[in-house]
Amino acid sequence: MNDNNLQQDIEPPLIEDLSTIEVVLGTSDIEEKPFGKTEIPFSDFTVINPETAKFRAKYFPESTDRQWNSWRWQIQNSYTNFKKLSEILDISNIDDFDFLTKSRKLPLRITPYYASLLEKKHSNNALARSVVPSRLELVISPGEEADPLHEDAMCPVPNLIHRYPDRVLMLSTGFCSVYCRYCTRSHMVNKDKKHYGVKAWEKSIDYIKSNPEVRDIVISGGDPMTMPDKHIEFLLSSLRAIPHVEIIRIGSKVPMVMPQRITNTFVKMLKKYHPLFMSIHCTHPDEITPEVIEAAKRLADAGIVLGSQTVLLQGINDSVEIMKDLMHKLLKMRIKPYYIYQCDPIPGSSHFRTPISKGLEIIQGLRGHTSGYAIPHYVIDAPGGGGKIPLLPEYYQGREGDYVVMKNFEGRIYKYYDPV
Ligand code: SF4
Repeated sequence: MNDNNLQQDIEPPLIEDLSTIEVVLGTSDIEEKPFGKTEIPFSDFTVINPETAKFRAKYFPESTDRQWNSWRWQIQNSYTNFKKLSEILDISNIDDFDFLTKSRKLPLRITPYYASLLEKKHSNNALARSVVPSRLELVISPGEEADPLHEDAMCPVPNLIHRYPDRVLMLSTGFCSVYCRYCTRSHMVNKDKKHYGVKAWEKSIDYIKSNPEVRDIVISGGDPMTMPDKHIEFLLSSLRAIPHVEIIRIGSKVPMVMPQRITNTFVKMLKKYHPLFMSIHCTHPDEITPEVIEAAKRLADAGIVLGSQTVLLQGINDSVEIMKDLMHKLLKMRIKPYYIYQCDPIPGSSHFRTPISKGLEIIQGLRGHTSGYAIPHYVIDAPGGGGKIPLLPEYYQGREGDYVVMKNFEGRIYKYYDPV
């Protein structure tokens, strides 16, 4: 590793960008005060696990409890360059910083809290591999493309994807609190280096208003929960005011990587917009800490329906044991395992992708071996925009006369009388 390369940031910090978040239009009750560099808002989040406390004492000795527990402090003090990251992680096997820096694919960003889960581990450890850049990202394989789901072609207005008949997905911001190296939306996240702002949502809201078949809205991004409360409330209240909008879902990785975001004040606001669902992006059981348990408890206690989404990643979570452990931990936190995704073919992602047979093996290893509630759907988001297609091991074996032939979780064959 060469010192010169270490000095280069892979992406500039976003402090300035966050301080210029657009002030919400006109209505004083939802006005957001711009966030200054030194200003640390009050946080009612207080949980710090012992290992993370040691990390904080070592690397952020000046930080107060109030700062560490502030999600905005977490964003301001995130790891965004190799030099800072090398203080906590052995990244000596990443041998071409210069090349990676110049490629400027997806930036590096890791919150101090999430970094505390990576410390002193080799960069090959599961959580680190999911968020630390690797030169393998520069290897482009057949079938990979920047927008594999062809989402751009399904946007009737900017940043609104209308792929299914009765639901739409809003890309509410391009900003995330960590950048996952396998992100499907890596072609759009962090392009503007700031939140889109309220004005950018107006066309989406108008589109939803004028399409009464849309009953289900997914607010995604980027990560919507990196936005200030009042911006999220603006969005939720605007959508809830549309009579045909039945449910609103928020897709986020924030509860896993920046649980300090889940303040009581925030959750109290969310409660006003039921029925509200949250799809939480989870990767590995090592993510489940006392902080995450507290964040999930607050969300579940507020009546928010929690589901998980996990991307199947080679060498990170591609075993029955790891997935079962993760699903059990999620269920205990009242997060229903919802989806395991085959990793989408974005450029430079082949080192993350497993064969489909691995996903089927995992589902087979769960079905019958644990509670049905712990079993997610294994899906491929079809390249080219075909939508999610569920994949199942072959339980249905065909027909024999008036009988359906089936295989159970132990591989035994059973027949069910089902006359044609
Ligand atoms: S949090 Fe979601 S949108 Fe952001 S980088 Fe990770 S996968 Fe992509």
